[in-house]
Amino acid sequence: MKKIISLQENVHVIDRSFEVRPLKLNAIPSNKILFMHAKGFKHIKECEHVLKYLDGLEIKPDKFIGDDRLFFWKNNRLQADRKNFNRLSRIAVDMGLALQTHFPMHKIERQFLDMASVSDWHALLQVYETYAESIADFNLSPNITVHPPIFEKMEEISEKLNIANQFLIKLGEKIKAERWPIIIGMENQADPFIQSFPLEVTGFLPEHLRVLLTGTNDTIQVTYDSGHRLLNKEFTVRELIDILVRMGKYVTNQHFHENEGLDFKGKYLDSHQAAIQGNVRGFNRCVIRSIIDNVPLNLEIPTNLYSPLRLLVYVSGMRNAIDIVWNDERNQQVFNR
Ligand SMILES: [Zn+2]
Repeated sequence: MKKIISLQENVHVIDRSFEVRPLKLNAIPSNKILFMHAKGFKHIKECEHVLKYLDGLEIKPDKFIGDDRLFFWKNNRLQADRKNFNRLSRIAVDMGLALQTHFPMHKIERQFLDMASVSDWHALLQVYETYAESIADFNLSPNITVHPPIFEKMEEISEKLNIANQFLIKLGEKIKAERWPIIIGMENQADPFIQSFPLEVTGFLPEHLRVLLTGTNDTIQVTYDSGHRLLNKEFTVRELIDILVRMGKYVTNQHFHENEGLDFKGKYLDSHQAAIQGNVRGFNRCVIRSIIDNVPLNLEIPTNLYSPLRLLVYVSGMRNAIDIVWNDERNQQVFNR
């Protein structure tokens, strides 16, 4: 496990080589952007000592299982578990935290639904309707991060992306028509040839995201995952940003972590380690991107692998890193404060 260092002395300020272009129209820069993922009530309890440094939690409903479940199926419709959502809301209110969600989508409470399969579209739209109701009822942030469709053979990728694109166009129209409080972030994935997930997922090239987003309205955007990017030499942020600028899209959410090392089979592991300045490419740009576009920088790290003290040092260090950039006089013009 890599040594975690305190970040505050090492943060760069924005200088003349400032490369981060704001992507979001009319965004008001903010430093309330530090989020961490949450994988159940027990997990939140284990991280209790770092919650005060955070601005929000990214809930992963597929990890809230058993007594912690947030959703369940009844008569073929996904329903929210109101008791557990109320419990979650109370924690958020008490700790002053925003809540947003990450639905990988491959499995929703043991049911598999695929946006690249037309026969699943109807059920998927109902799932989003339930999400929209939960977001409205429990005052969640509209950000929902979703994985692109899975594939088995390389030859299938293009067709899967095109079918998923048709679904996303339809979903965007439905979100607008029904006024659902939802913004979808399609997340870039690790290179399937070097990562070790059991499922192969598209979205590992900027071009995949371009196809998925083509013709969609402004409710369909992108989630950028810094660790997945490190598991793909062909994925460049520059190419992604150029595509987003051309399409009038933006990064609505960032998953912030890094990866290193090989597993015993010689495959890279998507180990989601704490990203440290100097190790992860684009560390400062990720921080600044979140500030100028006012989008969450979500620490998607396996908190159980760190001692409580290391976690505290890391999360409070990230808080300081953000606040130093935010408060540095040299950056005020960029933030228009
Ligand atoms: Zn991620």
